[in-house]
Amino acid sequence: MSKRTPLIAGNWKMNKTATEGTDLVKAIAAAVGIESAVQVVLCPPFTALSAVSAAAEGTHLAVGAQNMHDKANGAFTGEVSAAMLRDLHVGYVILGHSERRSLFGEDDAFINRKVNAALAASLKPILCVGELLSEREAGTTNAVVKRQVELGLAGVPAGKAEQVIIAYEPVWAIGTGKTATPAMAQEVHAFIRSLLVSQFGAETAARVRILYGGSMKPDNADALLAEHDIDGGLIGGASLEAKSFVDLVQSAAKSLTR
Ligand code: PEP
Repeated sequence: MSKRTPLIAGNWKMNKTATEGTDLVKAIAAAVGIESAVQVVLCPPFTALSAVSAAAEGTHLAVGAQNMHDKANGAFTGEVSAAMLRDLHVGYVILGHSERRSLFGEDDAFINRKVNAALAASLKPILCVGELLSEREAGTTNAVVKRQVELGLAGVPAGKAEQVIIAYEPVWAIGTGKTATPAMAQEVHAFIRSLLVSQFGAETAARVRILYGGSMKPDNADALLAEHDIDGGLIGGASLEAKSFVDLVQSAAKSLTR
């Protein structure tokens, strides 16, 4: 099996104005250059998408959104559709982030409708899954992740599955400075890939990127990215500064040479 192209995605969350985002993109683009073996995706808030897309034009950087609604248009105050994102040259969308699940009540069925709507609009969904600390301690990590992956990907045609990116983000590791050990993360990533094999077949499952997210930083990235089924990272805190984010891109590039 050929190695999957690593992907490093920055989730800026509710940080950076359009002006600040433009400066950050320029700094990252200058350091990454126009060629990299790593796919790099920046996910600013909606208000900065247009400016970040413009700043990323002609660079190696792609742009993603942090959420979207599954409907094409209508009376959904505060929401945006896949077509609105495509119009801003957005190529990726984070869906089902644990903050959306816990703070905004998003359930697997809603997230699944978004995944299918994103794919129908040729947006690559980054589907986030992961267990709470209490679920890990109760020994239900696999059951939780299985439910989130299977319900999240229901109805996805095998022909489109390769467009999906999964981000395994143990909730207890997000923004806490606690990271899953490489072995712990690899175990869940391998389990997720086995779920993909069951749903889409071995060949397709081998091509799907599975990112790790949860306090990934330059000092722990090499060990995580060395694992066979860890194909990159979804980065929160460390994506807000060019230096730490670019270090992570370089770690991912290095993982290809090992
Ligand atoms: C995230 O929110 O997706 C995330 C991984 O955050 P952090 O890197 O800050 O833990």
